[in-house]
Amino acid sequence: MKYYIKTFGCQMNFNDSERLGGILQSMGYEPAQSYEDADLILLNTCTIREKPDQKVYSHLGEYKKVKEKNPRALIGVCGCLAQRMGQELVQKAPMVDIMFSSFNMHQLPELIQQAQAGYRATAILEEPPQDEDKLWDYPTVRDNQFCAYVTVMKGCDKNCTYCVVPKTRGRQRSRSLESILSEVESLVKDGVKEVHLLGQNVTAWGQDIGMSFAELIYRVAQVDGVERIRFTTGHPKDLTEEMVRAMAEIPQVCEHIHLPVQAGSNRVLKLMDRGYTKEEYLEKIQMLREYIPNMTFSTDIIVGFPTETEEDFEHTLDVLKRVEFEQVFSFKYSPRPDTPAYSMEGQVPDEVKTERMRRLLELQKSIISKKARLYQGTVQEVLFESYQEGKLLGRTRTNRWVSVEGGEELLGKLVRVKITKPHLYSMEGELIF
Ligand code: SF4
Repeated sequence: MKYYIKTFGCQMNFNDSERLGGILQSMGYEPAQSYEDADLILLNTCTIREKPDQKVYSHLGEYKKVKEKNPRALIGVCGCLAQRMGQELVQKAPMVDIMFSSFNMHQLPELIQQAQAGYRATAILEEPPQDEDKLWDYPTVRDNQFCAYVTVMKGCDKNCTYCVVPKTRGRQRSRSLESILSEVESLVKDGVKEVHLLGQNVTAWGQDIGMSFAELIYRVAQVDGVERIRFTTGHPKDLTEEMVRAMAEIPQVCEHIHLPVQAGSNRVLKLMDRGYTKEEYLEKIQMLREYIPNMTFSTDIIVGFPTETEEDFEHTLDVLKRVEFEQVFSFKYSPRPDTPAYSMEGQVPDEVKTERMRRLLELQKSIISKKARLYQGTVQEVLFESYQEGKLLGRTRTNRWVSVEGGEELLGKLVRVKITKPHLYSMEGELIF
């Protein structure tokens, strides 16, 4: 039997799909080349903005044709849209045989049995079940041999007014340290060099089990063979000096952090219920720079949050100028059902959002090209992750892609590279032995 998984959304969703692959392979399924050849098609959905919602229906329309050719084929929908819509999606998508969410991925084997017996196996739970940790008993199926995501917590205890995550992934549940370390140990045995710790608000890990994120990264760094540590997504309010000191002391922690600011105006940050001001955010950046001088940053920005004025937006641009992020993931505000901001007065017209987005991208492009030029002639440590036609591809500790000419034997190795041609989003270099 063959399976095909299509994933939308964030790294958490991609790591969930890697886990779903592990569950299916433990049941004897094999990955299909394309959905046309699959006996089971899973759509792991996202609902963070309107666009991913719409994409789901067009994909289900395609998958329905597979069932017409292969009546035994099963179609499953999981992830955040499944959790948010529940039965409404079941009614709207009659071709769907199986539905579950990030709460109960470990129940997939019995849901498949129910569907094979001809029942519609839809299990959308209000709350995560007691035995949700059974999920960690399954391995992940990864494309990348040397870098691996490790989910360390689920859900979020924040209440950002634009965000659906607390509804679709529930309240914060930190995974146990033992479970995380045993996965890291088996990944290292499998040849992984870089561990990327994942959580909606990873810096809050441990708050619900009496531990701290700083302890977690110290312990992960003690696993023999872990050469690099990254983590996503941090929350400025939970980033403590203890964590920053740990990041500075642990040699494996890479000099790059993704720290979403979302907006620059204190008035808008309050309406978003982000829990920090522009000044406090910039103080965290300053603290990181004091402990780790060559630290680099990326962030998320929402443009056009309800009631955002031109003056508010200028504050957002000011944060970009003062921090000089290496990467900015910027989005036009997308009203999400079941979120407080959805019914807020003062929704910003789309053409205004588009105009502001254009100016933001223009400014960010000038910042990136300036930052890129600073790499010229520098020597960077690169972990090579892939090889194609005589070219090795890997990332610096600051999360920049670099390609060099070299042999396949360097795959999975940490190598010093001299940067010869820095481009906007990637760089070329030469090996230094
Ligand atoms: S921190 Fe805010 S934006 Fe991030 S997942 Fe939690 S509620 Fe959503």
